[in-house]
Amino acid sequence: MTPDDLLHPRPEGLYCPPGDFYIDPVRPVARALITHGHADHARSGHGAVMATRRTLDIMALRYGAGFADATQQGSRAPVDVNGVSVSFHAAGHVLGSAQIRVEWKGLSVVAAGDYKRGADPASEPFEPVRGDVFITEATFGLPVFRHPDPMQEMARLLKSLHLFPERAHMVGVYALGKAQRVIRLIRAAGYTDTLYIHGALKTLCDYYQAEGVALGPLEPATDAGGDKARFAGRIVLAPPSAFAAKWAQRFPEPLIAFASGWMQVRVRARQRGVELPLVISDHCDWPELTRTIEELDPQEVWVTHGREEALVRWCALNRRRARPLHLVGYEDEAVE
Ligand SMILES: [Zn+2]
Repeated sequence: MTPDDLLHPRPEGLYCPPGDFYIDPVRPVARALITHGHADHARSGHGAVMATRRTLDIMALRYGAGFADATQQGSRAPVDVNGVSVSFHAAGHVLGSAQIRVEWKGLSVVAAGDYKRGADPASEPFEPVRGDVFITEATFGLPVFRHPDPMQEMARLLKSLHLFPERAHMVGVYALGKAQRVIRLIRAAGYTDTLYIHGALKTLCDYYQAEGVALGPLEPATDAGGDKARFAGRIVLAPPSAFAAKWAQRFPEPLIAFASGWMQVRVRARQRGVELPLVISDHCDWPELTRTIEELDPQEVWVTHGREEALVRWCALNRRRARPLHLVGYEDEAVE
């Protein structure tokens, strides 16, 4: 028996034949195990879904309570699924995110999903879990990707506020995870004023707060109308797509910032019209990826989601067995 007998790619996603389930399938399937709530991993329309309580909550918030025919909570304690032992372990990516460990006949595979190792008070910390095979993402799987200290990025934002008190600082953040992490970072940097949020961020910010992630005073960033000056020198958080619309122009002299690991690539920042790129990522950078592989020391590494070849090559150079998985259907940008 080889690890492929336990998990292998199919067009629908990563499939486990003995358990008859998929992990993060991209098409509707009878039984899905979901690592986290980002839309490219957690889709609606499956028969049965197993995920952490928080991921199930988040899917219900996004898709409605009937997003699957049946749901089951996964946890650190292993659960039997058709004879396969399945357990969920924190991935440090967003609230509720988990690595999924499957074990069958003495063979184990850890599918990490999206993960990061850096501190994030808006997510449960990554738990190192051993398995014969470790499946790692490689969104930032090139040696050039090194994420700076996020507090340093926050200092740049607050300095800009100080330099341009007449301008509304519009910070692009994705609704699940990034928005709440950036808010926590802004608070950690000592900023206690009200933050203004686009309507698309409200549901998940409310959920994080209800789960004990304190975000401080938030108010809706409603149309400034005749009182544009109200937002001068204020921080407004919104999904990046809102900046392409006329919405952002309602604010005084909007200064566009964007919090993403991709902001290290300056050409991407320029293409998006970002004046203040903030390099804040919820994925591992290159040093985190390689450190994690060394720490877990699996017999084999499977690489997916992103720049697979460079990490596979690094493994080969370090005498580690590795191969790319070539799973399709996962975004590297839209939900980062
Ligand atoms: Zn994700």
